[in-house]
This record gives sequence, C-alpha cells and structure tokens, in this order.
Amino acid sequence: MQDLQNLHIGTQCVQAGYQPGNGEPRQIPIYQSTTFKYSTSEDMGKLFDLEADGYFYSRLANPTNDFVAAKLATMEGGKAAMLTGSGQSANFYAMFNICEAGDHIVASSSIYGGTFNLISVTMAKMGITATFVSPDATEEELDAAFQPNTKLMFGESIANPALTVLDIELFARVAHKHGVPLIVDNTFPTPVHCQPIKWGADIVTHSTTKYMDGHGATIGGAIIDGGNFDWMAHKEKFPGLCTPDESYHGITYAEKFGKEGAFITKATAQLMRDLGSVQSPHNAFLLNLGLESLHVRMPKHVENAQAVAEFLEAHPKVAYVNYSGLASDKYYERAQKYMPNGGCGVISFGLEGGREAASVFMRELKLGAIETHVADARTCCLNPATSTHRQMNDQQLKEAGVPAELIRISIGLEDKEDLIADISHALDCIS
Ligand SMILES: *Cc1c(COP(=O)(O)O)cnc(C)c1O
Repeated sequence: MQDLQNLHIGTQCVQAGYQPGNGEPRQIPIYQSTTFKYSTSEDMGKLFDLEADGYFYSRLANPTNDFVAAKLATMEGGKAAMLTGSGQSANFYAMFNICEAGDHIVASSSIYGGTFNLISVTMAKMGITATFVSPDATEEELDAAFQPNTKLMFGESIANPALTVLDIELFARVAHKHGVPLIVDNTFPTPVHCQPIKWGADIVTHSTTKYMDGHGATIGGAIIDGGNFDWMAHKEKFPGLCTPDESYHGITYAEKFGKEGAFITKATAQLMRDLGSVQSPHNAFLLNLGLESLHVRMPKHVENAQAVAEFLEAHPKVAYVNYSGLASDKYYERAQKYMPNGGCGVISFGLEGGREAASVFMRELKLGAIETHVADARTCCLNPATSTHRQMNDQQLKEAGVPAELIRISIGLEDKEDLIADISHALDCIS
C-alpha cells in the first residue's frame, strides 16, 4: 500500500487506507458478508492462531472496516486502528483493553456524560475505580491523583459539552511519568484540527458519529494506537498485554506484535471477539464518504461557528459565550497551541433571561433544530436543563457545569449570514 503518512491531511482524508489495484473498484467495496471461504482447515487454523493475516468472521474483522480504520490511523499519525459500533464502545474497549478489576483510572472531569457514566458507574461495577481531575489541574494536582494501581489517564481534546480544551502535553507527561498511557477522545476537533499523538497521547478514540460521519447518518466509533507506548517496559502493570492470553493459545500480545501492533490486536482478538460491538461494513462505507470531505467541512464549521460566537458575544441578551476561538475565552491560548486552525463548530452560551429565555430562543429558531446531537451538517441545539439533564434542579445543574440557561449549539454548514439572521430573530423574540 502506498504510504500516505507524510502527505497532508486532506490528501489522507480522500485517499488513505484503500488503494485499488489494476481494474479494481475505485470506491471502497462493501464486503457485506459475515464470513469468508477457505479451501483447507489448515488455512483457516492459521488465521485462528493469529499466524496468518486474513478474514474469517466479520465480528473480528472485515475488509471494508479495515480500509476505513487504516485511513483513520494515517490521519491521526497512528500505527494501527479499529472501528467499533459506537463512540461509547470505542472508549470502553480502549480503557478495558488496559485495565481490569482492581485497577484505577485518572480521568478529566470535563468529559462527555456518557463516558462519565461509563467510568463512574458501569466500570465501577466491574471493579475499576476512578479519580476525576480538573482539565485545568496543575502537574502536582495530577500527580496526586495517581495510585499504585492506576493504569491509564483519560481526557477529551475538546470536551463535550463543556468545551474545555485539554493540555495534552501536560497530561501525557504526567501519564508517562507514572508509567501509564494517555487516551484522548478526539471527537470534536478531529485529526483535521488536532492530532493528539503528536503531542504525546498514546491512544486516540472517536465517536465517528459526529464530524467524521458529519451528516447525522450513522453511529460509529474508532480506536487508533500511536504505537509508541512500551508495554513491556511496565510489564507488571499490564498483564493483559504482557503475559500469555490463555483464551488465545497463550499468545503474549506485546511480545508477538510489538509496541505498534499489540494494543489493537488484543482489542480485536479478545474484546471484539467476546463483546462484539462491531460496526457494520455498510456503516463503515458511509463513514468513509464522510471522511472524504472532512478536511473541507471542518474549516467551514469553524468559520461559521466563529462568526456566530462573535455575534453572540456582542449581543446584549447574551450573558456569556464559551468558544475557544474567541480571544476572551478561558481556553483561547491553549486552543491556539493545540488547534491553531480552529477547534470545532460547537458553541455553548447563556442568556441573561435564564431558563425561560432559553426555551423561547430555541422555540423561535427556524434553521437550528432541537436535537440530542452535535457535529452535523445541519445546525442543531440543545438546552441540557430541559432535556438530557432535566432530572436536576438549578443548583445541581450549576454544580454539573451545565447551568439552567446554557444552550449548546452545533453550527452546521449552512451560510453563516442565514444562521446569524435566524439567531438574531430568535433573540429578538425574548421579551
Ligand atoms: C458522542 C460522543 C461520544 C459517544 O459516542 P456515540 O457514537 O454516541 O456512542 C463519546 N465521546 C464524545 C466526545 C462524544 O461527543
């Protein structure tokens, strides 16, 4: 396969992962097949022993999915990747591939609600505990969160919905000082705007449901391994990677597949085999269509969001705006460092009129639909207090970082003049 590793991100979006041979389909073929045919049982046996490369059952691997995963690995500057059925399963597999009952995770407190639940409730039931740290914690505060049984650090490059920006270099340095990898969920900026592996992250995850698909068509996830973390150098911490896997004929992943192959091979051979959160080849095909224009769409999302954020900031009915592209934003400097071409198209803001004003604003918005979704070609918005967080009272909402008046708006690819006119009209409707 032609190596596109050194080409620009846009070329990678369009062409990485699949290079057809003479007379083969130009577009990625959809291998809509559960299984694959072999002539001898010896041939198939080698696949089961991980002695030969090849496909045998689409729960473990499928060529369509592998083409798309290879594209994502190239785009993130990683060495290996896999697709999963959702962003949730990507984050779960990435963490559970490293830790087990009795282990501990240090995670940023500013993360997606689903991931917070996954770590603090579901993984806790599996005997994995966690300490949450502020994304703005100092090195000393981060150090203090570590325990002898800590096995990984987790954060989001731009957090959903708080829009905090992670100090990736600092988190990576602290993780490595304690002999553990850093996992970064890079869903919001995508590799078009931020490449966490370059800043020291070891593993990157995605909800491909968001900008990568970009059209609100498919749920999906991905895990990309940078291939830099030396599991064997911390053998005692990672028995799952560094001691024989009895469920796979005694293979020791870190020995047999090395730094570059161990993580994704284990996650596929063990977790996908046993838990099965597979992405369908058809969805992988749709995801790839989204990826082909990701580098064209992301700058447009940012251009539109920047214009809307500046308009909101100057409006008398708006109390505050969170958008790291605004010079007044708390995360402006950090965003300039990690994502100098802009972050993403999601903005959050609060109205002077509080919860009631938010409800009027959203009702009057014509182009922006009310949806539990972000990162779509179409503008959409949500008031967490009356939807995802409606069981909380105003005090609890404030403590959770989503005050009652907060509106999260995901700016789409429409013309910005129309979006601003629509938003301006909705603001005028607030008495
Ligand atoms: C949406 C989201 C997820 C969960 O992804 P699904 O594809 O909905 O399962 C995880 N992390 C972030 C940052 C997200 O925005």
